[in-house]
Formats: sequence, C-alpha cells, structure tokens
Amino acid sequence: MNKEMQFFTFNDCASSFKILGLDMDLTEYSSYLEENCLNHEQTEAIDDFLQYLRNKKIQSTIDMYLRTSRLPLKVPKTFSNFDFNAIKGKHADRLKALSDLNAIRAHKNIAFIGPPGTGKTHLAQAYGYECCSNGFKTYFIKMSELRDKFTIARRNGKEASCLNGLVRPACLIIDEVGHCEFDKDNTRLFFDMIDRRYNRQGINNIVFTSNKNPSQWKNNFSDDDDLLCALDRIFDDATVFNFRGDSYRGKQLENITLQTSRVSAS
Ligand code: ADP
Ligand code: MG
Repeated sequence: MNKEMQFFTFNDCASSFKILGLDMDLTEYSSYLEENCLNHEQTEAIDDFLQYLRNKKIQSTIDMYLRTSRLPLKVPKTFSNFDFNAIKGKHADRLKALSDLNAIRAHKNIAFIGPPGTGKTHLAQAYGYECCSNGFKTYFIKMSELRDKFTIARRNGKEASCLNGLVRPACLIIDEVGHCEFDKDNTRLFFDMIDRRYNRQGINNIVFTSNKNPSQWKNNFSDDDDLLCALDRIFDDATVFNFRGDSYRGKQLENITLQTSRVSAS
C-alpha cells in the first residue's frame, strides 16, 4: 500500500467512526492496532468491515429519510424522470444544475412559480428525493396540509412539537403556496416556523411551489406585518424559477375525434 492509499484508508476509518456514532478516534484506533500487533492484512480486514458497516448505516439512513419525507415512493418524481427537453430558454441549465444540491448547501431557498402542469411539484419532489439520497432529512407538505397541521397542533396544545418537526428537516418543501387561507393564529405559526428555520444552524433550505406570484402570497395570510417579515426572510437569499407555457399534463392523452352521421331508420 502506498502512502496516499494509507492516508485515504486512515481518513476513511475516521469518517466511518463518525458515521457509525462510535466514540473512537484515529489515535485510539492506532493504539489498538499497535498493542495487538495486527499485521497489514488484519488491519485491512478491519478497514473493509468498517467500510461495510458504514455503507449499511448510510443506506439505512437514506431509506429512513425517504420513508419519513412524505414524498411519493412507489413512482418517485426524480430528476432522471423529468424531461428537461420540455424546458426551453437560456436558463434551462440552471434547472438541471439543481440536482447538485448547491442551493441547500448555500442555504438558498428555491421557488417554482407558474401555471398548473408545468412540472413545479415534480421538480420540488425531485429535489427532495435527491436531498434524502444525499443524507439531508426532507419533509414534503402541501400548504393546505400545513394549515391543518397548525390548526390541529393549536387545538391539542402541541404547537412547540409541531414547529420542531417542521424546523428539524434540512429541506422543507411547501407545495401549492397560495391555495388556501391562513387565519391569524396559523399565520403566526407560519411566521414562527420561517423565523426559526431562518436562524437554524447547518445545511438547510425551503422549496416552494405556487401558481401565484410571491407578491400575491400575502393575500392568503391574515396578519400582514408578521407575514411581510416572513416573506422578506424567504426571499433574502432565494432562486425563483418562473415557468410559462403549456401544461405537461395530458402529454400521453390520446385525443380521438369521431365523425358521426345520421343513420337512417330502415
Ligand atoms: P405542477 O405542479 O406545475 O402543476 P406537476 O409537477 O404536478 O405540475 O406536473 C404534472 C404532471 O406532469 C406530473 O405527473 C409530472 O410528473 C409531469 N411532468 C410535468 N413536467 C414534466 C417534465 N418536464 N418531464 C416529465 N414529467 C413532467
Ligand atoms: Mg403542483
């Protein structure tokens, strides 16, 4: 084994310990190898096993993130089953580049705005799927479900745990903003959630989809002052994709035109 390989394997061990949640560092590991006079083959076997456990742990975390994300899993919407040829314009590449997940690493929110059927929800879910697959906890919710979740939490005195659950995921996807009304108390909770996510440490962002321009979102909330603060924060650092054009829905719809003629009674 050359020096670089040794370095690589050694660093790999350190990250395996971390991923496996083991209270072990490279110094302790080296001492163990030293004290037990383990030869090169034996050390390599341990490294391989650590690697195996690490991959298993990563896969089970990804599976758990997908299971708890509320994203459709039977037929998932992904970047690979999105037809980018349907997207025209000079900024189409920006859409493709979303799959590199730089936005979430840069704490940049994303909004997909446009008419029905243009692929907004598909792209938001594809983003969420990619996040889960890369170890970022994700939660998908429609705006109307969020309203109901807030209402139920308030009724049961569970506002704090409801908010915690919405702040914890690295990626929060809110689908169909502007589809329903938020009363004063739900608006306050919405603002709290945005505010807490804004101040949250670590990699995170929010992805929105809407048929309405963000300038009209405030019409669906009850307390303007709170909302304006929340909206400011959403668009403090965000990328907004505006879609125009035809719906993708009905692409596989077969339209059959039939000609009828009078049948004379015999
Ligand atoms: P929107 O949220 O903009 O109303 P959707 O994302 O729900 O639209 O898209 C409607 C349907 O069309 C979904 O089944 C989606 O998977 C599909 N669709 C939309 N755009 C594309 C595309 N460019 N490539 C593949 N499927 C698409
Ligand atoms: Mg949609």
